[in-house]
Amino acid sequence: MDHHPERLRRLQASLKRKKLSALLVTHPANRRYLSGYTALDHGIHESAGVLLIPARGKPFLLTDSRYVLQAQEEARGYFVRLFTKGLMPGLQKLLPELGVKKLGFESHYLLHSAAGRLGHLAASLKVELVPLTKIIEPLRVVKTEEEISRIRDAVLLNEEVFQEVYPSIRPGKSERQIALAIENSMREKGADRPSFDTIVAFGTNAAKPHAVPGGRILVKGETVLVDMGLVLDGYCSDMTRTFVVGKPDSVFRERLRIVRRAQLAAMKVIRSGVTCREVDMAARRVIREAGYGDFFGHALGHGVGLDVHEAPRLSGHSRKKLRSGMVVTVEPGIYLPDWGGIRLENMVVVRDSGCELLNTDRTFLDL
Ligand code: ZN
Ligand code: ZN
Repeated sequence: MDHHPERLRRLQASLKRKKLSALLVTHPANRRYLSGYTALDHGIHESAGVLLIPARGKPFLLTDSRYVLQAQEEARGYFVRLFTKGLMPGLQKLLPELGVKKLGFESHYLLHSAAGRLGHLAASLKVELVPLTKIIEPLRVVKTEEEISRIRDAVLLNEEVFQEVYPSIRPGKSERQIALAIENSMREKGADRPSFDTIVAFGTNAAKPHAVPGGRILVKGETVLVDMGLVLDGYCSDMTRTFVVGKPDSVFRERLRIVRRAQLAAMKVIRSGVTCREVDMAARRVIREAGYGDFFGHALGHGVGLDVHEAPRLSGHSRKKLRSGMVVTVEPGIYLPDWGGIRLENMVVVRDSGCELLNTDRTFLDL
């Protein structure tokens, strides 16, 4: 089923409520969500195209000659406009054509320099610019069953990659070699790409939650933390496992059990209607009571969808309520600078009566 017309209808309703004549969409995941156009940006400074969504009528996709064929194939229901001299001259023609008086733009995804050029253009056309943060993101936060099934496929493929690479994680290998083997396997198994740079951290490096894999060589008995995710058919997965190559000592086993208990405590609380804060606190309480409260610095989890980090944020500061159909990670950890770290990360779907675990892999979760 094509969900794009329905998504467009909901967005246009929200534009009308805000009394905007149109919205300029620059965020790549939002662009894809609304149009089905899958091209990727080469960073925020080099866009593969933007959408101009009028409050009424058929929307536009503006792009350059490199992408125009792909845009026509994928963005069904859109007028595809080719611009040759850059986006601003393209908009200079189109905005008056559509009678745009009040134009919203995504202020959280536009370079300051581009916003400056847009400001000049708007002033010369007597168009009022309205900076908006996160107008499309709230539409994306609750997933359809079709989206959930794509996310599940991404989770299962990610587990398959982990299982394939795991036997090669042996003493003598470097962090970088393992990260590379993981990312190769993702591509071989049909993933679009990794959803973020794979994290592989040995020993004390695992104390950095977002460690960058380097030349460190694995020694028997050391901790290995692997945080990996892939994109499949546009949707992301994200999973962390921490284990020891060789026999784990009693300290590792005890700390792993605490992190696992924290993860299960959070999962027990997750269901539609509870606040993000309550979920975060359920996990944090377990870690605090075990004496490691100062060593779990980051939030418990985040939403996953077309982006690997999206709303909601399972943080102690968020009073937002979970809703059925949200997909979130549950990833408590303990990080000690001189020792290393342990994080376990799974993905779940929020349901009315509880949470549905998307992961099937249970390796290293219970010691
Ligand atoms: Zn992760
Ligand atoms: Zn994560």
